[in-house]
Amino acid sequence: DTRHGVILYLEDITVRFDGFTALNRLSLDIGVGELRCIIGPNGAGKTTMMDVISGKTRPTAGSAFFGQNINLAVLGEAEIAHAGIGRKFQRPTVFENHTVVENLELAMKTDKRVKPTLFSKLSGAQADAIGATLELIRLTHEAWRPAGLLSHGQKQWLEIGMLLMQEPQLLLLDEPVAGMTDAETERTGELLNELRGRHSLMVVEHDMDFVASIAGQGKVTVLHEGSVLAEGTMSEVQADPRVIEVYLGR
Ligand code: ADP
Repeated sequence: DTRHGVILYLEDITVRFDGFTALNRLSLDIGVGELRCIIGPNGAGKTTMMDVISGKTRPTAGSAFFGQNINLAVLGEAEIAHAGIGRKFQRPTVFENHTVVENLELAMKTDKRVKPTLFSKLSGAQADAIGATLELIRLTHEAWRPAGLLSHGQKQWLEIGMLLMQEPQLLLLDEPVAGMTDAETERTGELLNELRGRHSLMVVEHDMDFVASIAGQGKVTVLHEGSVLAEGTMSEVQADPRVIEVYLGR
């Protein structure tokens, strides 16, 4: 099995919109537990790729497999989320009038959630899961505050926590540090490092310093005109003349 250890496998994915080719035979795979950063100039196809993986856009051609043999190209968004892919969009969408704890509770897998949703009614295991997530997302001290009172960065962490309550195997994060303070950005890097290994992560990010800080010696993929232009460590891709051309030649 050549796909052993691979959580996401894209081969020759093409997406065309009315004759415009947004993805052009894009091939890429992500290893189990890997944190993969995706970079590329505007219009490179990053969002379209995430749309294909999350089922929002159906590929015109090519194959997309998740886990052992789940064919993403034939599933809808809800089915893909249920299969274990969680996506976080750029803008946080938390329930502002609910507390942080209630937000996590509402995000729990429905088969694990109790109704009415009252923290006191949660089982020990459910409360433990929420407690562990609160620590991970650095919001233990904000647990009982309405989410609307959190900072922008804290809301982003809460949304990551809400995704985690769904127990995803693969997390897709779109510009997770956009609009964050330097301190929040640094803590987000730590958080993503803690998730690495337990989950597989695909992170689309424009902030190159942040990418360098979280990628370490891991692989970075550079998209350009709907295909993979380069792949390698951050220092390898930054030294690649084709990558320099794409970023500077505009
Ligand atoms: P990125 O996220 O890397 O900036 P996108 O995936 O958003 O790139 O876009 C890739 C290209 O596809 C862009 O030129 C964009 O205008 C085009 N595109 C994206 N979605 C659509 C659509 N629904 N219809 C037509 N063109 C689209």
